[in-house]
Amino acid sequence: MFENEKIIMTIPRQKNIALIAHDSKKHDMIDWCMKNKEILERHFLCGTGTTARMVAEETGLPVRGYNSGPLGGDQQIGARIVDGKIDLVIFFSDPLAAQPHDPDVKALLRIAQVYDIPIANNRSTADFIITSEYMNSEYTHDIINFRKNIEDRANTL
Ligand code: PGA
Repeated sequence: MFENEKIIMTIPRQKNIALIAHDSKKHDMIDWCMKNKEILERHFLCGTGTTARMVAEETGLPVRGYNSGPLGGDQQIGARIVDGKIDLVIFFSDPLAAQPHDPDVKALLRIAQVYDIPIANNRSTADFIITSEYMNSEYTHDIINFRKNIEDRANTL
């Protein structure tokens, strides 16, 4: 079963979407969620603490909140990606402000890349993703077979 380097994973039709916005981008995120409310209410939303709270309050959408980003929220979302529990990330990051949790942000971007999770770093990318035909259907993709990876490493190192 685990002989292959890759395994096929399915991003379901109804997606688990994580929302994260740095402080200067939070109102942009609320505005984007408001504009896309009809689509977003068909999916499950979560996000870093403050972003989740503000989006939920301003749009009425249910958003499960993790810890605030600087207090580990990005890492919680990364861990959920590893567990296969998050299918898509909308991350309005601020390229012009230093973040105390920059290593966590990098870790999140990296783990999304490892697990081939679509991640929007700005609004235009988020617009392209939200209007994609895959928002209304399943999407299958190959990801690294983590069991095979451990087996190989344990046998060769
Ligand atoms: P916040 O975290 O939503 O709790 O502000 C976002 C971040 O800065 O990563």
